[in-house]
Amino acid sequence: STRVRSSAASDVYKRQAQVMVTVPVMIGLTVKYQSVVFKRQQRKMEQQEKKLLEAMRTADRANEAKTSFLASMSHEIRTPINAILGMNEMILREEKDPAIRGYAGNIQASGNSLLSIVSDVLDISKIESGKLEIIPVDYEVNSLISDCCNMAAGRAKAKELELLVECADNVPMKLCGDETHIRQIIMNLLTNAVKYTEKGTVKLIVSGRFTDGGFVLKVDVSDTGIGIAEENLPQLFTQFQRFDLQRNRNIEGTGLGLSIVKRLCDLMSGTITARSVLGSGSTFTVELPQKVVDS
Ligand code: ADP
Repeated sequence: STRVRSSAASDVYKRQAQVMVTVPVMIGLTVKYQSVVFKRQQRKMEQQEKKLLEAMRTADRANEAKTSFLASMSHEIRTPINAILGMNEMILREEKDPAIRGYAGNIQASGNSLLSIVSDVLDISKIESGKLEIIPVDYEVNSLISDCCNMAAGRAKAKELELLVECADNVPMKLCGDETHIRQIIMNLLTNAVKYTEKGTVKLIVSGRFTDGGFVLKVDVSDTGIGIAEENLPQLFTQFQRFDLQRNRNIEGTGLGLSIVKRLCDLMSGTITARSVLGSGSTFTVELPQKVVDS
């Protein structure tokens, strides 16, 4: 019985020894297998990452090519349009025949709208390619406001709309900022106000507040027009976004104007907001920080 017990004990030892050898080998094999699988997965992920990066670079290059194509095309198209409009202006000045004057009037209207579409495309491509520069200059607020009003007055008059202008007393006489692009913002808002208003008033209010380093110029453009539905307000500054297409089918536009205005405000460290009541009218408010040259 002692022999039987000792042989059973040696079996147990043998099995323990086997386990002690087999388990580390198994663990070792499993670790090796896992590391092989892990390395393979890592290689696969690296390849995928490489492919993604390459695809991103290709997309970026295509986008840059599109932007530069649009920019040069719009530039090329603008030159002959200006020549056509110039020649047409001569016909309008010199021609007495009402029928021919009528044709020339149509050329003028279509030419101008083509010019504004092409300018919008040029502007948006310049902004997207980061080529639009903000150039601050000293300017007179008074002449900026009167120029904008003079340009909008013709269109307002043609639609028998009242055009009102208010300027607060505290607005400095001379400011420093990118006058050209501020003018573009105001003109865009005034043009829209006239375009989307059938009767009533378009109002331009210029005011602002002094800050430590300068003056925040505030421009409100309000109208008594068709207004914008509340659910459309969040998409108002998105490219190519136009609303109420059924009702506005006779109003020309690209849906680029407000997105350009928003991008210009951003580039000038300013803000733009819109309030509107559908059927009653809209108010757009722009705030732009400027330096004071002469208060
Ligand atoms: P569009 O060239 O179509 O005028 P915008 O970007 O200037 O493009 O305006 C986008 C859309 O916002 C317009 O199509 C119009 O539906 C709406 N909108 C803009 N301004 C006004 C406004 N003053 N009153 C009512 N709707 C407006």
